[in-house]
Amino acid sequence: MNEGSETRTRPGQAAERIVIVGAGTSGLALASELALRGIPCRVLERCGWQKENSTTPGNVQSVARLLSGASDPTVGLTRPGGRFAHTTLVADSAVEDLLQMRAHQLGVEIIRPAEVIDVDQDADGVTVRARGEPGEWQERAAYVVGCDGADSIVRKLSGIPVEGKTHSFAAVLADASLRWPPDAELMVHGSDKGVMGCVACADGSFRVVCIDRTRRWADEPATQDELRASLWRVTGRDLEPYEARWMTRLRLHERLAARYRDGRVLLAGNAAHLHSPVSGHGLDIGIQDSFNLGWKLAAVLDGWASPWLLDSYESERRPVAERAIRATGGVTATVTTPSAFGGAMRGFTPSGRLPLVSVESDMPSISLRYPAPGEAGHLAGRWLPDLQLSLPDGAVTRLYDLLCDGRLGLLDLGPFGASAVTADGWSDRGRPIVADLLDPVDLRGAVAVLVRPDGYAAWSTDAPDPEVRAAECGKALTRWCGDKSRSGTGALAGAAAGYVAGAVPGALSTVTADPGAYAVRPRITDPDVVSGGIDAIF
Ligand SMILES: Cc1cc2nc3c(=O)[nH]c(=O)nc-3n(C[C@H](O)[C@H](O)[C@H](O)COP(=O)(O)OP(=O)(O)OC[C@H]3O[C@@H](n4cnc5c(N)ncnc54)[C@H](O)[C@@H]3O)c2cc1C
Repeated sequence: MNEGSETRTRPGQAAERIVIVGAGTSGLALASELALRGIPCRVLERCGWQKENSTTPGNVQSVARLLSGASDPTVGLTRPGGRFAHTTLVADSAVEDLLQMRAHQLGVEIIRPAEVIDVDQDADGVTVRARGEPGEWQERAAYVVGCDGADSIVRKLSGIPVEGKTHSFAAVLADASLRWPPDAELMVHGSDKGVMGCVACADGSFRVVCIDRTRRWADEPATQDELRASLWRVTGRDLEPYEARWMTRLRLHERLAARYRDGRVLLAGNAAHLHSPVSGHGLDIGIQDSFNLGWKLAAVLDGWASPWLLDSYESERRPVAERAIRATGGVTATVTTPSAFGGAMRGFTPSGRLPLVSVESDMPSISLRYPAPGEAGHLAGRWLPDLQLSLPDGAVTRLYDLLCDGRLGLLDLGPFGASAVTADGWSDRGRPIVADLLDPVDLRGAVAVLVRPDGYAAWSTDAPDPEVRAAECGKALTRWCGDKSRSGTGALAGAAAGYVAGAVPGALSTVTADPGAYAVRPRITDPDVVSGGIDAIF
């Protein structure tokens, strides 16, 4: 402790509380997921202010979902697979703004500046030491989640090793005007010197990223002259950037935490995994970590989680990061290797476009399947699109709008709602949804699906016999929601009741910000460019 600093315990602490370290996109998303379920949580953020600008997320179904309640900031890269299975170009800071607003609406306490300097767990909880304007103080929590980014102190203090490597070269990212811009509004160009990507924005500027493999990592800030030289070297043309209003140097990592959990300490987002921004999966994977972890931690604190549920966070999410690291690492190697093979690969691609990761097939949150036992049904472990549904009273709604009260949804598409009746005993944890499907989506014959709060199917059945269906459904509810007779502390039931009464804002649709004010506003208008170039987007 520093001399003269104050040590104090902040009021309102409870052993039932979660402390989240870091108010980036992962930490803020997790805080909202917990608050939605009535779990008290507090976010400690080192930075006294919010970032003004940072990055451009690429394909991010979770971000599209975040922004869907307001206007449409997307570039219109919609593909089959659901309302949110498309690419959104929006600044990281905008996503943070929206998430912070939502967290505030849900009553989350975000403390800035609060730098966490020590984490110490025992059998009953975790003690966190932080320092900020009032000096130093201690927090006590049931669990601590490190969402504190690449250099995570939570990870280090928990002794969780990191596996992988860091590249010696770097990428430069910038928002700048170009005196001699490329003809296309969206362009990716590879050569034996590196790769550059460039997206036109509505204000006439360009978001540019350039990996110049002849330049090594340097600690000094990137400059406009350096960007100009790199772009020239890589493309063979002088694009002449000027009036760069934001610029950063980005180190390329391929690193993964050996574990996502050490007792009462968990990791999410960049604290757990780091990979090249090629293909733009980082933000989505971090937010999806939080969606996955939030309801499971809430179930633990509410007392109804099966013993395996919290461990399934790591077994489901770590392989996703592992796969992204492998995929983006492969692309990075191709665009940066000096070898003849790499040159041949680059030369093989038509019109300088590189075979970067396909958005539709490789968007991790859409294409992955979590491990599920065979008897759990065809859809178990798969992501469900935001289905359009018709309810018995004739109302038309969307699946995700019914999943925002923290409970699992028991979607019953069969006659008479035979499975939904089974959910009666679990109504504080599972919400029965009797509906007809309006979307022409192939649900592989499923007539009932138990949908987790993060949008993945826990179980499905195509059994035609209603009694068989109901019996299977009871087993699935017991597996995922605990015993029927077991009741939790009521936090979740309270949150659910609040939602129904309108007291708890329904998930993301209540965010009132105008995302148009934040969106990068790409000005891509040519549908051929969009559909042809989508596989090449960063
Ligand atoms: C230049 C760049 C370009 C990118 N491009 C894309 C892209 O196109 N598409 C995409 O999907 N992703 C992209 N990413 C990745 C994406 O931005 C990250 O994956 C995402 O922001 C991770 O969020 P996070 O909350 O896990 O971590 P961070 O955003 O790093 O947040 C961590 C937070 O923890 C705080 N913190 C750290 N230490 C402490 C401490 N001791 N105490 C308290 N607080 C602490 C930090 O101040 C910070 O606010 C890019 C990243 C970079 C750097």
